Amino acid sequence: MDFHHHILSRRCWIFDLDGTLTLPVHDFAAIRTALGMADTDPDILQFLASLPPVEAAAKHARLMEIEYDLSAKTAAAPGAGQLLDQLLRRDALVGILTRNTREIAIHTLGQIGLKGYFTSEAILGRDEAAPKPHPEGIEKLLASWGGAPDDSVMVGDYLFDLQVGRAAGTATIHVDRSGAFRWPELADLAVSTLEDLAEKLAYSVPIPAPY
Ligand SMILES: [Mg+2]
Repeated sequence: MDFHHHILSRRCWIFDLDGTLTLPVHDFAAIRTALGMADTDPDILQFLASLPPVEAAAKHARLMEIEYDLSAKTAAAPGAGQLLDQLLRRDALVGILTRNTREIAIHTLGQIGLKGYFTSEAILGRDEAAPKPHPEGIEKLLASWGGAPDDSVMVGDYLFDLQVGRAAGTATIHVDRSGAFRWPELADLAVSTLEDLAEKLAYSVPIPAPY
């Protein structure tokens, strides 16, 4: 059994939401501008945390508005439902770790038709755990599932998703529609789409015939 097969056989699957289960619609440069950030500062949540409380609250409210707006514009990434169906048929545990809020994540999942795959306790946003790449969110999900890092996979489209997987000791899968795969040293497996990943999963873990 090779390493990829081993990764795909794991029981606990944690997904990033925006740009991973959804088609990417976040223009982070525009969001930074709207919040009055320098375009060179990559971490929006850290920037907000550095502000005086009144300004931080106003900008958090503005960010929520922007995120609600974006959630209305997005759609499920191709292959997302297929992949989640396959995972649930294998009795995998699935969760979401997002730097968005749980409330917006649930709203977005409803918009894109994927809400039924996740319990709300398995959706951790920035108020339920320290934001990625801090490993607290993964640790909380695994504690609630009785899962271990070596039986877990973190799937995402951005650097923080791969870093958080490394920090928590899970395997990492990078989904990058551009095919650029900018962080190969942080990704155990790289795929262009969730359709590719669903195909690999179907191939590596055959579902027994129902008889
Ligand atoms: Mg993302």
